Amino acid sequence: MSSATNLFAELEEYYSPENLYYQTINSILEAAEAIKLPHRLKQIISQPKNEVMVHVPVEMDDGSTVLIKGYRVQHNNVAGPYKGGIRYHHDVKLDEVKSLAALMTMKCALIKLPYGGAKGALKVNPGMHSKNELMRITRRFTAALGANIGPDHDIPAPDVGTNAQIMAWIADTYINFAEISNKVEAKSIVTGKPIEFGGSPGRDKATGQGLVFVLDALFPEMGLDLSEQSVGLLGFGNVGSWTGRLLQQRGCTIKTVMDHTGAIHNEKGLDTEALTKHVEEFGGVSGFPNALPIPISQFYETAVDLFIPAALEQMIGPDEARKLNCKIVIEGANAPTTPAGERVLKEKGIQILPAILCNAGGVTVSYFEWKQNRQSETWELEHVDAELKRKMFSAAKRVAARAKELNVDMRVASYAEALQHLKCIYELRGIFP
Ligand code: NAD
Repeated sequence: MSSATNLFAELEEYYSPENLYYQTINSILEAAEAIKLPHRLKQIISQPKNEVMVHVPVEMDDGSTVLIKGYRVQHNNVAGPYKGGIRYHHDVKLDEVKSLAALMTMKCALIKLPYGGAKGALKVNPGMHSKNELMRITRRFTAALGANIGPDHDIPAPDVGTNAQIMAWIADTYINFAEISNKVEAKSIVTGKPIEFGGSPGRDKATGQGLVFVLDALFPEMGLDLSEQSVGLLGFGNVGSWTGRLLQQRGCTIKTVMDHTGAIHNEKGLDTEALTKHVEEFGGVSGFPNALPIPISQFYETAVDLFIPAALEQMIGPDEARKLNCKIVIEGANAPTTPAGERVLKEKGIQILPAILCNAGGVTVSYFEWKQNRQSETWELEHVDAELKRKMFSAAKRVAARAKELNVDMRVASYAEALQHLKCIYELRGIFP
């Protein structure tokens, strides 16, 4: 029996091995074994601290009312306030949110940010609502969360289906409820805000930029030249489009891109700046000129050096892994590779650079934004980029060293590095009372 099965049985929790939360905790526990984490800490890490579920009625433009389900899962706050995105997606499930919250704990610990991990979600399809409906949905959800969020307690950010405008509505709603003496700091209730309203320069590109810095840190030792790599991108939203544009600026050839509207290919390289404008105008990559539309199977089979999943969870299962024709999978999305998919990739000799390292740039610049808000400062983009580079290089080098020391892959090494940091804090803080 796997570590997670035993531990969950002890806690009288039962999950299928296909369940994303089970898979996430099982993978973290592999690293816990490698560093001999005390059993009591394994128990703590395997459970979120709080799971908040709300149902909010919201009036639509036509006068009808819909009842919307929302979640905020607070996984761990030993290192600092809970931190993590809010997702708007019609198909979101509690276990998925729990999994993403646990990954946030690991990510913040790996980067050594003074944050714990959380994640939130609303079960809505943002594409089906007008701007006014989205504003009312967001304000009502923020009010329903009430004191469960706060600048010193739990700080949301954008994720799939949410953006800077939605963060601005969350902040505005929260500021309206805040005590008069707390109005300035209340702005730091969320990160990923528009620059004009307390956002940080560089936050929109931060996740893609962080991923590129990780490659800058690791590739020289791996004997790879970033400028010579060809790339396949799964997902072309915030993470995918910025990763694509920044890699193209560094000389990479972006050969294939797929999103929810279809897949496209250009052997000589797609113009990712033009593709970003196309997606803004038409809602997806489909129909982009100077590219061939290709079937999904061909998208996975096309030979590229680097394959970057930057869409949703669990998209690289065994079938996709068998098709993939690349040297390295670089996880831009959270949990994009299933354990069965990972086994196939390993059998094929394809290396995986894990999400908690590769996509940590987003939360890192969110931390810079929170710091700026609390000090009423505005940093220059150059300063943000330099600080982000320092954090990402440090984490990437520590993970590479941990992988060598423990003789484990980069995913186990990333979790081990994060858990070691949490273990240290738990030992220093002790158990209350
Ligand atoms: P987004 O909503 O901006 O983009 C999501 C992309 O996935 C879109 O291109 C969409 O078309 C594509 N997609 C959705 N369903 C698909 C399907 N069935 N097949 C193919 N493509 C599909 O979201 P994002 O912010 O770019 O987030 C992407 C991933 O990165 C998520 O896992 C998210 O949790 C993670 N992440 C995001 C950030 C951030 O700063 N935005 C930070 C860290 C991690």
